[in-house]
Amino acid sequence: MEEDRLVSRQERAEDIEIEAGLRPRTLGEYIGQRPVKAQLEVFIRAARERSEVMDHVLLYGPPGLGKTTLAHIIAREMDAPIRVTSGPAIERPADLASILTRLEPGGVLFIDEIHRLARPSEEVLYPAMEDGALDVVLGGKGKGLGAQSMRISLPPFTIVGATTRAGLLTSPLRDRFGITLRLEFYPEEDLGQVIVRAAGLLGVAIEKEAVAMLAARSRGTPRIANRVLRRLRDFAQVRAGGVITEAVAEEGLKLLGIDKRGLDASDRRYLAVLAGQFQGGPVGVETLAAALSEESETLEDVLEPYLLQEGFIERTPRGRQVTAAGRSHLGIPGGTGGLFGS
Ligand code: ADP
Repeated sequence: MEEDRLVSRQERAEDIEIEAGLRPRTLGEYIGQRPVKAQLEVFIRAARERSEVMDHVLLYGPPGLGKTTLAHIIAREMDAPIRVTSGPAIERPADLASILTRLEPGGVLFIDEIHRLARPSEEVLYPAMEDGALDVVLGGKGKGLGAQSMRISLPPFTIVGATTRAGLLTSPLRDRFGITLRLEFYPEEDLGQVIVRAAGLLGVAIEKEAVAMLAARSRGTPRIANRVLRRLRDFAQVRAGGVITEAVAEEGLKLLGIDKRGLDASDRRYLAVLAGQFQGGPVGVETLAAALSEESETLEDVLEPYLLQEGFIERTPRGRQVTAAGRSHLGIPGGTGGLFGS
């Protein structure tokens, strides 16, 4: 179901090729996220001046905020080759060992969704990241007597890990990243710049008012802004002579089911189920996920971060709770202690 949401923050097939064209290639082109950029500028420059590789970097934040983009930028700014993989793609420790031994000296290994790396593979990373070495077990017959371990040293490299939630990483893995950077949702002004830049690259004219409207409704997420922009381009082409005017944006967003705060049908359903079926909560995420027929991970990674940031829901030790703002967004009268009083 997540695949079908227009405002999904996950990548969809159509995004992959188009995003490649829209992706900023240098830190200078990368919009917003100033604290992250400022730190990276220093680390990249320092490493370059010493002719060393950069320390391992962990990027975290909700999907679609620019983690993959930054990983490529880091490699490019370091003049380093990049190899891309992901936690779920690495099935066995041997797969990871083989990737590591084949990295070019000074190279960057980008591991997306690193929190989904299986434990045995993760253990390969510990000595690799800490000592630049791989521990290989040379078993004679079986693993018992005669098994010996040998250390192979690796050429210098940088791991860039990306995760939607740093809390899901084990602490030994987290500790091995010298640099941890958190990406934030983009304020409307920055998102406006992302939209103007993307519209230029897509060759579509967009009015200032339409930029502002789209920026306000893209949940602080460049991937969503770019995706909705492409849909609005279609509306503009068919109905308005190719220009995304305020009216085109307004009508397009309405047809796409995106409301004034950027919530789509799935978000509103989340809020409605929480407020109605569960009387406003608190309710555990698993129970809520079951009621919505979603994976709890999808709720936590994709739906909830923005609802939390906008103050529509709260996370309490006893579970999720809808707030007065969440209720009022749904048009339900406020009040404490649940929709029907407690
Ligand atoms: P993540 O890896 O965090 O899911 P991506 O790096 O794939 O996100 O970013 C999604 C898309 O959003 C990119 O293709 C790019 O077009 C756009 N984007 C992300 N960050 C920026 C930015 N700072 N400036 C301009 N465009 C951006």
